Amino acid sequence: MQKKYLMLVCAASLTLGACQSNQSKKELIKPVFTADDMDLSVKPGENFYQYANGGWMKQHPLPDDKSRFGSFDLLAEQSKEKVKTIVEKAAAEKGAEGSLSQKIGDFYGAGMNTEVINQAGYTPIQPLLDKVNNIQTKADITPFISELTRLQLTPLFYFYASADQKNSEMTIAGIYQSGLGMPDRDYYLSDDETSVKLREAYVVYLTKLFTMTGNTEDDAAALAQTVMAFETQLAEASNTRLENRNPHATYNKVDVDGLSQMAPQFPWKAYLKGIDMENAGDINVNQPTFIKEVALMYEVESLDTWKAFLSSVVIRKTASYLSDDFVNANFAFYGEALSGQKAMEPRWKRILESTSSALGEAVGQLFVAEYFPPAAKERMDNLVENLRIAFGQRIDQLEWMSDETKTAAHEKLAAIRVKIGYPNKWRDYTELKIDAASYLDNVLASNRFEFAYEMGKIGKAVDKDEWRMTPQTVNAYYSPVGNEVVFPAAILQPPFFYLDGDDAVNYGAIGVVIGHEMTHGFDDQGRLYGKDGNLQTWWTDEDSERFNSRTQILVDQFNQIEVLPGKYADGELSLGENIADLGGLAISYQAYQNAIKEKGNIADIDGFTDEQRFFLGYSRVWAQNIRDKEILRRTKTDVHSLGINRVNGPLPNLQEFYDAFNLDKAAALFISPEYRATIW
Ligand SMILES: [Zn+2]
Repeated sequence: MQKKYLMLVCAASLTLGACQSNQSKKELIKPVFTADDMDLSVKPGENFYQYANGGWMKQHPLPDDKSRFGSFDLLAEQSKEKVKTIVEKAAAEKGAEGSLSQKIGDFYGAGMNTEVINQAGYTPIQPLLDKVNNIQTKADITPFISELTRLQLTPLFYFYASADQKNSEMTIAGIYQSGLGMPDRDYYLSDDETSVKLREAYVVYLTKLFTMTGNTEDDAAALAQTVMAFETQLAEASNTRLENRNPHATYNKVDVDGLSQMAPQFPWKAYLKGIDMENAGDINVNQPTFIKEVALMYEVESLDTWKAFLSSVVIRKTASYLSDDFVNANFAFYGEALSGQKAMEPRWKRILESTSSALGEAVGQLFVAEYFPPAAKERMDNLVENLRIAFGQRIDQLEWMSDETKTAAHEKLAAIRVKIGYPNKWRDYTELKIDAASYLDNVLASNRFEFAYEMGKIGKAVDKDEWRMTPQTVNAYYSPVGNEVVFPAAILQPPFFYLDGDDAVNYGAIGVVIGHEMTHGFDDQGRLYGKDGNLQTWWTDEDSERFNSRTQILVDQFNQIEVLPGKYADGELSLGENIADLGGLAISYQAYQNAIKEKGNIADIDGFTDEQRFFLGYSRVWAQNIRDKEILRRTKTDVHSLGINRVNGPLPNLQEFYDAFNLDKAAALFISPEYRATIW
């Protein structure tokens, strides 16, 4: 939901070799950009992405268990290896009951114990399925939906805690659409061949799940059809991703009575009581149309339909924690059919993932102690402040922004909070009980613990120290309502960040990421929030118009990019991220120029000038191989552009790029100055 959208997912690639060159001019150590990683048969102006990354892509063919694999993913893999060391050490320690190492070790150990898991089959979810079977009346449905909410098995909508978008100091409750087993409403509603085939595959998958949990083939097939029809109705009432990018339209604050009036057929009070939230206070309903439809369906749909749907939710959402037959069926649909993955990731990686997610900050503490040098934080602090200065300079130079708005922009820029590495204080896991007996029980215990933790924030002041990502995550984010940029420890590694690296590459890589995140505070979404994170207008109408006409150029440019024969990128869906990439490049380039002024140019390294290395450093971060199905899925659902387009898309808008590589209008990537987008 909201927090997901904010994530940057600036990916990375490794492989550059240890870049070093220290700020001083002569101490160059290892080459970063070698002919091996590049494709020198392609001219930079023809296809810069291929030129910069061709060799890397060849050396890193897609593993069968990946639908996309890039330098970002490679870094994530390395982070996983580190987490593995930590988790295995915790498991070997056999820590005292209730200690973090006991919890981490037992969670992982139970997940790896396939003998016990396979013997159990689906018996771990039998109690939940029995509850569905015992539903006698409509009134019995509600407590069960409450129970699934507590277990974070999310049957229809998310019930979550978040800062009030118009009073960012306070945490309130929110309700966000959900209920679909496929990634997006389009999968249910589009007529294209791929969508039709995927719908068939989804019904096959559901049928299989029902068969495997004791239904006859015929009954299972009928149940699957029922679920498909039910979800299609939910899909029709769901907002599109584009609609969900409008924070004004998704801000509809009501109280419990207001909610009951908005969608009267659903017994909200009983539901809220079931999750101990009868005194929820303010609730933001993100998608009122959807919630009204859910309430209507509650009244209209038969008891059997509801039972079929709720059973499917229980089985589908737990399948990956059950015996191999369930795990395989789950993979056949979500991995193979949806993303084109050829093989599953090895078990240890999957279990590590769920351990790291269930005990995020417990694992994070150990990760930071082991792998995050304090010097990295220092250098990052310095980079971030330089980026802030450069962004300020660029705001002053903007032709399209009024002086009045510039003043407010400076205030907002100055107010951005920065979090680097890991939280000041760690989560307390005392109340979470984990044991070695049942993997699924541990997962559900952790979900329940997490939900209670989230609910505990509602009606209270926002905790400004909190992190929405763990330190071991290779990613970063900007939160508009917190007006903060956050960089977990795990992203502060090559090829994003070279602790001892030269400035050109660091500004091209992590510098652009920092700039990228900062511009999110000022993009088509972020500009709707003021310096304190409240949804408010601080731009003049003229500023908005001029901004929109500039960003429209970017929308048009990306709409023309063919991602597969006959399929085009979605310039509107990806606009915020594309603005951030272009802005991040411009701002970081400026910051780099500022740094050069102070320190002087470094001599060429690896045969490339500083300016060239800046752009090569940026490009390497986005090197990736990807399957066609994954291209389609991401084009529909991901607000980020594909790796190739994050490079070849923004760069031709920058004169500095042409200058660095001596490109003229003969270059295939060339865009005439009058058609270039310049925003920040
Ligand atoms: Zn972003």
